[in-house]
Amino acid sequence: MFVDHAIITLRAGNGGNGAVTFRREKFDPKGGPNGGNGGDGGDVVLQAESGMSTLYDFRNQAVWAANDGQNGSGKQCSGARGEDLILKLPPGTILFDAETGVVMHDLKEGERVIIAKGGRGGWGNEHFKRSDNQTPKTAEDGERGQSFRVRLELKLIAEVGFVGLPNAGKSTLLAALTKATPKIANYPFTTLSPQLGVCEIDASRRMVMADIPGLIEGASEGKGIGHDFLRHIERTKVIVHLIDVQPDNGMDPAKNYETIREELRAYSQILADKPEIIAVNKMDLLPDEKERTKALKAVARITGARLDRDIFPISGATRAGVRPLLERLWTLLHGREELAGWKPVAAEE
Ligand code: GDP
Ligand code: MG
Repeated sequence: MFVDHAIITLRAGNGGNGAVTFRREKFDPKGGPNGGNGGDGGDVVLQAESGMSTLYDFRNQAVWAANDGQNGSGKQCSGARGEDLILKLPPGTILFDAETGVVMHDLKEGERVIIAKGGRGGWGNEHFKRSDNQTPKTAEDGERGQSFRVRLELKLIAEVGFVGLPNAGKSTLLAALTKATPKIANYPFTTLSPQLGVCEIDASRRMVMADIPGLIEGASEGKGIGHDFLRHIERTKVIVHLIDVQPDNGMDPAKNYETIREELRAYSQILADKPEIIAVNKMDLLPDEKERTKALKAVARITGARLDRDIFPISGATRAGVRPLLERLWTLLHGREELAGWKPVAAEE
């Protein structure tokens, strides 16, 4: 299951205590102090790990602690420093103080930061030797490490965005592909709200998908979708353009395709420039193989997209054909193939 939030306790290591010891040697039975210092406690360090896209691991473990520093010992031996805890998190994770709700950190790509500082080790008694106190019998205790209860929240950035005319089947497909519809941050969308879902191809491969609603419904004139949503979906890497193979309005599917392409350009050039996959949807309505082939060829002709690579016949309702589509999307997102493979050219002139 995909998880986008978790509450955990972070605990940096305590400093080790300083030692109270004295030299004990034959010729010097009452030798001076030689208690070593305690080691510092380990820090809790956050590290953004770009391959990660879930907070799942943090659901199963409540406390994440760095090691304590070792106590000092005789013969001026300092205690070892406690080992740091490196907490690997997906970039885009926000840490909130669980008690106050205050944002403690917003983890960016490639970042590594100390979030909880280990306690300083205490001085051993040797440190306190003075001319007027040759045999100090006290040492210092280590300081406590910082500790926080934090709430982790992962901001989901859609990697795949669905576009298409109303009724093309975007919502149906999103529901069919995504197991979880995680709660997302409050974007101040005006009227239309985006649907986000996490698609699990298998246990280790996940893609965040968004249904980009109502492009055609005046959104490009700023009526529908707010700027925040625009910024959000402009970070999608691939567009899946859904075409209804047999539109209710009796329109030509390829014509509908161009309508959406025009809308896309008017709405956001950034979105329009994204690589695109064409999903010819509702193929279950065309049981006849010849008709299917004819329809797909027509789409290929008008769009200039390649049938074997850029066009996928699917049915969101029956899920037929979605597997190859998902594999293709995954390759585009994570494979070595350049994202800028095929770009839509239809209606470009
Ligand atoms: P959206 O407006 O693009 O989000 O489209 P919806 O997902 O709401 O679907 C519009 C209509 O098409 C609904 O009545 C769906 O039941 C129907 N629909 C969606 N996907 C399919 C499909 O693969 N096959 C068939 N036959 N109908 C579908
Ligand atoms: Mg819809």
